[in-house]
Amino acid sequence: MIISMKRHSTKEEIDQVCERIRDFGYKVHSIEGEERVVIGVVGMGDVTACLESVEAMPQVERAVRISAPYKFVSREFRPAKTQVVANGVEIGGDEFIVMAGPCSVENEKQILEAAEGVAACGAKFLRGGAFKPRTSPYDFQGLEEEGLKLLHKAKQATGLGIITEVMSDRDVELVASYADILQIGARNMQNFSLLKTLGRCGRPVLLKRGMSSTIKELLMSAEYVVAHGNSDVILCERGIRTFETATRNTCDITAVALLNELTHLPVILDPSHATGKRSLVPALSRAGVAIGADGLIVEVHPHPDKAVSDGAQSLDLPQFAKMMRDLEPYVKLWKSSREAVAAVAV
Ligand code: PEP
Ligand code: MN
Repeated sequence: MIISMKRHSTKEEIDQVCERIRDFGYKVHSIEGEERVVIGVVGMGDVTACLESVEAMPQVERAVRISAPYKFVSREFRPAKTQVVANGVEIGGDEFIVMAGPCSVENEKQILEAAEGVAACGAKFLRGGAFKPRTSPYDFQGLEEEGLKLLHKAKQATGLGIITEVMSDRDVELVASYADILQIGARNMQNFSLLKTLGRCGRPVLLKRGMSSTIKELLMSAEYVVAHGNSDVILCERGIRTFETATRNTCDITAVALLNELTHLPVILDPSHATGKRSLVPALSRAGVAIGADGLIVEVHPHPDKAVSDGAQSLDLPQFAKMMRDLEPYVKLWKSSREAVAAVAV
């Protein structure tokens, strides 16, 4: 059960509600938003009596029973879609948002060239890893803080928002001081201490689906971040591991539509890691637009043949420019279907 307090409720009023819940034998988990407090009720058994009692309290705006194991992120809790704002850009709103850039930040020239190139094509965020999760300890591990500084330079030059990965709870504060969105990679989707720390990081989070994770597990991980105080979470389908080896991963494109049913959080698609092959990226991107993703995160490198990581799946700048042009009619349709949904909601 989730209880929304009325706007600007006092601490005393909130405490009264929490006490009532505890009297029924449940645990309380409260989240303080800017304007209102939301209280999660955790425990076993039938909550009907507790719900009825709490709902009657004057300071309570709404009490809802949520059957899904993920509470705050479920559509049951919030029927309307959430918009996450980063660097002044709305994700999950009425614009289709593209994030683009190299897999790794390599040097100043590379990242500035990438940033200027993708900005000119309409991307709103620059991606680029400064902390890289690599399968081999002998592969390039990222420039760490130096990479973050280069991303910041690229932001100053182009105005693009920055999205970059954080791998450890130790580095959250550092990465949050440079980035507009913190990316949690597939390999860390269930790093629960990292997820808890993100609850207090003050930045939106892009949570990528683990390569062997179910949709429910992805949503439970998002729930961790939200339950620890940060409701600005964006989900990302990036392909899962199957018996098929012809592509790097198998894109679970249905996940995008299903997530849109199950959660109010924005959902984006990563066609680069989903395929591992640059020739497939434009087609999968079109599929992402068509199925109702809120945006894309695409790997783009000024010289993919020289990339230190993921060159085979990276588009060069002319290829990215062409893909963005070719997506235009699809994005137009996307926009009109968004407007139709919004009109129905009104
Ligand atoms: C990446 O975005 O470069 C990356 C490592 O992605 P994933 O975590 O999805 O493998
Ligand atoms: Mn990559």
